[in-house]
Amino acid sequence: MSSAARPDPPPDDDDPIDRSGLRPRYWERVPLSSMSRGEWEALCDGCGKCCLNKLEDEETGEVALTRVACRLFDDASCRCGQYDIRHQFVPECIVLTAETLPDHLYWLPQTCAYRLVHEGRPLYDWHPLISGTPETVHDAGVSVRGLSVPEFEVDEEEWEDHIIEEPL
Ligand code: SF4
Ligand code: SF4
Repeated sequence: MSSAARPDPPPDDDDPIDRSGLRPRYWERVPLSSMSRGEWEALCDGCGKCCLNKLEDEETGEVALTRVACRLFDDASCRCGQYDIRHQFVPECIVLTAETLPDHLYWLPQTCAYRLVHEGRPLYDWHPLISGTPETVHDAGVSVRGLSVPEFEVDEEEWEDHIIEEPL
């Protein structure tokens, strides 16, 4: 059986991302710029790493990830607490699109599904689109669930003490 003919994984009721009604294995054959809104959103693996604050070295341009999370990040669910209206609270939150993706590759996590697809690489087996459940991203130890600290608890001068390195 070809991979394109493989059936969609069964829906998971706990997955806040609607992954139903997607074209089979679309991420392997549909360019990022041609994905539907639903397909684009479903590509997010829910790792939460893009909601962590980063430190950028002004001289080298190097980016370090910290475990200090955005004020809207819910560490228990590993999700944005107010995704649909987040810009009311965090206007600087990035809107990732096929057009803006290249500008953000320098800081996106190594495992980010948008980065992987952009680079022509396969998704990992723990990606919810493959496994059929968002739990596998946590089981694989690549999410930040239970690992972050809220930014209102840590002064910005102390973020350096909370640098983490990939792989997590
Ligand atoms: S790093 Fe990428 S895959 Fe992970 S939560 Fe952010 S957008 Fe989704
Ligand atoms: S506003 Fe929401 S999506 Fe944006 S960085 Fe914060 S927690 Fe993440």
